[in-house]
Amino acid sequence: MRRKIVAGNWKMNLTKGEALDLYHSIGQEKIDNVSRVIFSPLLFLDALKYVETPEIPIGAQNFFPIKEGAFTGEVSYAQLKDLGIENVIIGHSERRTIFHEDDALIRQKVEVAIAAGLHVYFCCGESLEVRESGKHFDYVLHQLTDNLFHLEKEKFSQITIAYEPIWAIGTGKTATPEQAEEMHERIRLAIAQYYSNTLAESTSILYGGSCKPSNAKELFAKKNIDGGLIGGASLNAKDFNNIAKSF
Ligand code: PEP
Repeated sequence: MRRKIVAGNWKMNLTKGEALDLYHSIGQEKIDNVSRVIFSPLLFLDALKYVETPEIPIGAQNFFPIKEGAFTGEVSYAQLKDLGIENVIIGHSERRTIFHEDDALIRQKVEVAIAAGLHVYFCCGESLEVRESGKHFDYVLHQLTDNLFHLEKEKFSQITIAYEPIWAIGTGKTATPEQAEEMHERIRLAIAQYYSNTLAESTSILYGGSCKPSNAKELFAKKNIDGGLIGGASLNAKDFNNIAKSF
């Protein structure tokens, strides 16, 4: 059975006090049969560790794939590990586009994170332009083969995939459950072809892009959608938990 996951990506939002309150509120509700995880701004990770919310691990939205050194403004994977952080996002479209993270850097981040024993939430997804050209399946499969499929089979259990069409992120425009499902199905097929059926069946594939309480149920009802990576709606405890209760 694949793990059902609802992950919150707070992005560059909240003050420290707000982050602590929000994390505490999310944890007030116990929700069975789904794993929740919160990706907070790096600055709050240490403080969040001390909030009594044992069932909801926290994770980092970013890191630099070198242990230490002269990299002004960056935070290393080793510093995250030292803090007890176990989850990281890699390949988010905002990092790819705004911060110009290319395939080589993303591949390196995946490699380093996996070697450090971190669990990777790997994001992939096409722009509106690519979707309208009809090449979205090829585009996403290329992201997988180029950024992820260099991993050895034994390491792949440290991967959760998030399909996030860029045109749906923060736009209020959600992919239809059918559009999301057909991409998830292709992603799972690609894992089966590169690795094995067993691995494909055990890898959680999340949908991200304007997922909210009003559309989560329909999306999560699809066979290959194992949960969501939630941006905007993760900034409200009730909305985030309602999404987690949508299976
Ligand atoms: C995201 O950025 O990962 C995301 C899914 O954002 P939103 O839910 O706000 O579209």
